[in-house]
Amino acid sequence: MIQPPVLEWQIGVVTRITTENARTKTFTVALPKWIAHEPGQHYDVRLTAPDGYKTERSYSVASEPERRGEVDLTVERIVDGEVSPYLHDVLVIGDQLEVRGPIGGYFVWDVALGGPLLLVGGGSGVVPLMAMLRHRAAQESAIPTRLLYSCHGPDDLIYHDEFAALARAGGTLEIVITFTRQAPEGWSGYRRRIDAAMLNEVKEPLGEGIRSYVCGPTLLVEAVANALVASGMSPDRIRTERFGPTGS
Ligand SMILES: Cc1cc2nc3c(=O)[nH]c(=O)nc-3n(C[C@H](O)[C@H](O)[C@H](O)COP(=O)(O)OP(=O)(O)OC[C@H]3O[C@@H](n4cnc5c(N)ncnc54)[C@H](O)[C@@H]3O)c2cc1C
Repeated sequence: MIQPPVLEWQIGVVTRITTENARTKTFTVALPKWIAHEPGQHYDVRLTAPDGYKTERSYSVASEPERRGEVDLTVERIVDGEVSPYLHDVLVIGDQLEVRGPIGGYFVWDVALGGPLLLVGGGSGVVPLMAMLRHRAAQESAIPTRLLYSCHGPDDLIYHDEFAALARAGGTLEIVITFTRQAPEGWSGYRRRIDAAMLNEVKEPLGEGIRSYVCGPTLLVEAVANALVASGMSPDRIRTERFGPTGS
């Protein structure tokens, strides 16, 4: 039996830090042993304390594989967290970061797989979906695609301007946002948690044979996947990734 290659830890260098919103930053990490990832894959980040204590967390790649030599990792700061506050509050440009990846062979999509594509993300769950959209754009793909993005409020949006630009340029890409706590003034779109009725409205224009990728807090992912199956989608067309324990 052929064993998958063992991924080695490597030392990357932080070359850029982008503030996405008050709680979310993107770290661009240059990698000496860069390998093209599949959109949807993640890296493990390992921190080592002066006393030798080590801890690691997973972060999805936000960038497209067409961008060589570096990856973008977008991290939401979790209050009381062990790793994400360190990345936010301590890491600066030029620092080294120990990483291992790319990892994951299930929650992945590239243009060769085709569509139509229904992406559903909650909070930072939108990160691997962004890698898929950036790859789709880099390949100049016209695969009909809709992203349903659930967010607490306008201040929590990640990649908002780039999503809007991708949708303007793409023609066959549409971004649908639902605000679950606070909507901007004059907002005429959805203002509730994702439910079966919303999913049906969003996926209906995509027609038959949809592929769906769902990512975010565990409760959101389970609710969306169950609703998609109940709507008649085959479970083998639905791929899920759970980021954390909360159901926000
Ligand atoms: C495959 C995969 C990909 C991931 N990709 C990303 C990514 O692209 N961006 C990103 O920001 N995170 C991502 N995560 C989550 C990330 O790995 C960490 O779990 C997260 O950053 C919290 O780590 P921490 O050390 O700061 O908090 P911890 O010390 O692990 O947890 C502190 C407290 O926060 C709670 N908590 C843990 N995770 C979350 C969460 N996601 N939401 C709310 N509460 C939480 C814990 O239950 C605990 O009570 C991913 C997780 C997986 C499994």
